[in-house]
Amino acid sequence: MIKVLKFGGSSVQDAEKIKHVCSIVIEESKKSRVAVVFSAMKGITDLLLNSAKIAAEGKTNYIENIGTLLLRQEKAVNELMSGNFAQEAMASIKEMIEELESLLKGVELVRECSPRSLDLIASFGERLNNFLIASYLNSIGQKAHYVDSREIIKTNKQYTRAIVYYEETYKNIKQRIFKEEGIPVITGFIASAEDGSTTTLGRNGSDFSASIIAAGVGANIIEIWTDVDGVLSADPKIVKSAFVVPEISVEEAMELSYFGAKVIHPSTVIPAFEKGIPMCIKNTLNPSAPGTMIVKKPKAHNMPIIGIASINDVSIINVVGGGMIGQPGFASKVFETFTKNNINMIMISQASSEHTICIVCLADDAKKAIALMKEDLSFELKSKAIEKFELKENLVIVSIIGENMRGTPGVAGKLFSTLGDNNINVYAIAQGSSERNISFVIKKEETEKSINVIHKSFLGV
Ligand code: ASP
Ligand code: MG
Repeated sequence: MIKVLKFGGSSVQDAEKIKHVCSIVIEESKKSRVAVVFSAMKGITDLLLNSAKIAAEGKTNYIENIGTLLLRQEKAVNELMSGNFAQEAMASIKEMIEELESLLKGVELVRECSPRSLDLIASFGERLNNFLIASYLNSIGQKAHYVDSREIIKTNKQYTRAIVYYEETYKNIKQRIFKEEGIPVITGFIASAEDGSTTTLGRNGSDFSASIIAAGVGANIIEIWTDVDGVLSADPKIVKSAFVVPEISVEEAMELSYFGAKVIHPSTVIPAFEKGIPMCIKNTLNPSAPGTMIVKKPKAHNMPIIGIASINDVSIINVVGGGMIGQPGFASKVFETFTKNNINMIMISQASSEHTICIVCLADDAKKAIALMKEDLSFELKSKAIEKFELKENLVIVSIIGENMRGTPGVAGKLFSTLGDNNINVYAIAQGSSERNISFVIKKEETEKSINVIHKSFLGV
């Protein structure tokens, strides 16, 4: 049995937490062959990126950040280790931090931080933390070795969001991981390009790293350890009776992630799931809880939906006008403004009368989008093909998600009659043809009530 375990920043934010997760790792290593991936300590990646920004402005107060980093590392080393182990670990950590300081000095001098330098600077968070944890494990008699994933995960040069070269990466993983005795402790988030320069896989990329490692070693399971009991049927802050869903499909996990329930980043799952490796979400604060399994084909169950998610602070833009009727290409003209200006449309709907196109986007983007459309579509406005742009604010998107909705008649009926019975007005509706998700837009004030009545109506509690 081979397991890949991944722990995020909040699970390893200080010595006490590191001790705790290491006890979990050691327990697991008695039952299976394990490889472990850690993120940087909580807040460190932000601190590093912020330091780079300060230095690029030619300011010197990034030095305070380095001081904070050094203190935090020193404190952790002293609380975790003593004697030779502590001295040796501290010497290497100091060396790394000195290298970081000279890099930042360079950025300060040239007053510019390229994405390439930014990735190198960000890489120190994962390097320091994984080095520290590997040293700690050895100091308590658990054989472990630090693995710098830059030697293994190969990417292109799209710094800050690099694209993985899988073939080469898998070959490296097979050659390197598990060749040495002891537990491999592997840096998440970072990788390298052909020329050896440091790249990163995007913010929160450590889950992705773990998934790549799992695919490369042919793991039986990958466990993502966080600080919740698993995937919940709704936000427990909104629904008191929300519960942990024991098993969901990959697609359901993706739908949930898109809708703000931060389970896992959708791209995370790709490498592991291509190889049929299931993923389990576990809680470091409650290790004996079974967690949520994310699998290709969940066992049949009779829950009509597995969860409710929502996106706060959205607005609706209605593009209204008679000139749009029967005009091919009209919608694409409207969307063009969004694409050109990199504004995300979260939901779109157009009824068959074609008199309005309804676009839902983040509230912060809406006014800007309208101003830009007014410029781009000034001809259509003048010729009255478009009558007006309407803006509706203070809205929320709520989605119900579940594989069992597919091909089941009556789900939408039940949803909207539940909302109607509770006097909740729906402003827009969208259902993708995957039928795994029905989304609708309501007033912000009605979020709590809506999610609770739907939870009760579909899940009984
Ligand atoms: N440390 C990186 C970040 O904060 C990667 C991760 O946490 O997964 O984005
Ligand atoms: Mg993180």
